[in-house]
Amino acid sequence: MQYNQPDKFGHFGRYGGVFASETLMPALNELREAFERYRHDPEFIEEFQYELKHFVGRPSPIYWCKRLSKEIGGAQIFLKREDLNHTGAHKINNTIGQALLAKRMGKKRVIAETGAGQHGVASATVAARFGMECAVYMGAEDVIRQAPNVKRMELLGAKVIPVQSGSKTLKDALNEAMRDWVANVDNTFYIIGTVAGPHPYPEMVREFNSVVSKECQWQMPELTGKDPDYVVACVGGGSNAMGIFYDYIPKDNVKLIGVEAAGLGISTGKHAASIEGGSPGVLHGNRTYVMQDEDGQILSTHSVSAGLDYPGVGPEHAYLHDIGRAQYVGIEDGEALEAFHRLCRIEGIIPALESSHAVAYGIKLAKELPPDKNILVNLSGRGDKDLQIVFSYMNEEKKHV
Ligand SMILES: *Cc1c(COP(=O)(O)O)cnc(C)c1O
Repeated sequence: MQYNQPDKFGHFGRYGGVFASETLMPALNELREAFERYRHDPEFIEEFQYELKHFVGRPSPIYWCKRLSKEIGGAQIFLKREDLNHTGAHKINNTIGQALLAKRMGKKRVIAETGAGQHGVASATVAARFGMECAVYMGAEDVIRQAPNVKRMELLGAKVIPVQSGSKTLKDALNEAMRDWVANVDNTFYIIGTVAGPHPYPEMVREFNSVVSKECQWQMPELTGKDPDYVVACVGGGSNAMGIFYDYIPKDNVKLIGVEAAGLGISTGKHAASIEGGSPGVLHGNRTYVMQDEDGQILSTHSVSAGLDYPGVGPEHAYLHDIGRAQYVGIEDGEALEAFHRLCRIEGIIPALESSHAVAYGIKLAKELPPDKNILVNLSGRGDKDLQIVFSYMNEEKKHV
């Protein structure tokens, strides 16, 4: 199929766009112009490629899970190893791109907001790498829950600002970051960590992360002689999924599957599956699927994985869902934990709990398919950051036996 999204206003069909206050418009316009100017600039692209190779360690390999696939007895499972990137996840691809853009725009300071802390760490990392000042907004609750990541950001020279308003979590941190941006737009670049926010962020973050599917275009044929039959990725905001989907979108022979966090089950309401369990609305500057009540109030979410615990989803996923180009499914906490342990034991890889959702669905799917089908799963990050959570679940289980 032909694919040419978004339009110049950032619309992916009826999703996306710019829902922001007048005060933000000059900053967004400046960013849009800079992105349009540099995205095709050979020098910019060359510098981006250089950083991806020498600082991040790209290309990340694709690994064939021979033992796991054999044990399942169905399709073959392959992992795109984004966990092997510097800082241990895909988020660095995008923060490098945005930091290079900030540099071109003459901004000496970057800001970010973070919930679980992973995007804060990736932003602090590139700020240190390029000699920029960095402030990270974080809900006061999250500062306590994610103490190791706060320490990491501080070691990297960033200033972590606890936000005391509202529920003291991600959405409050987001409001504060916006306020900072409007007040300091002359010297400040706002780095968003997923394919959400007002235009041009969803398109820009997709662009920087699409290096992942570009690599897969030659890596899978090199390994298997053909494209994968299925590409599977977890979806929080949706940046790792857009990254591995993007170059496959025009290829109708490749099925795309996004895996949302079904938490304790969609029917319990305790989940973070915005597409399966939400409806169209406006969140964080764009129109998309959101988890909301009848009055449009945003609902609280639950997932065992902090990185998937977000009540919205990037607008491009909303569009891909509606036109049927990608399919979205849910994986519950327990299923993700089971896949986590299985990958540890059978393949010697400790996956992030976010990525474990994609692995869990990959396993389910493999069971239903013959051995000559190939499933490419995006292993978006490594699991070292999640050990405390995994141990606390293991202790809970012991108590119940
Ligand atoms: C943040 C994070 C995610 C979720 O973000 P997306 O924008 O949906 O990719 C997934 N996996 C890992 C390892 C993360 O750190």
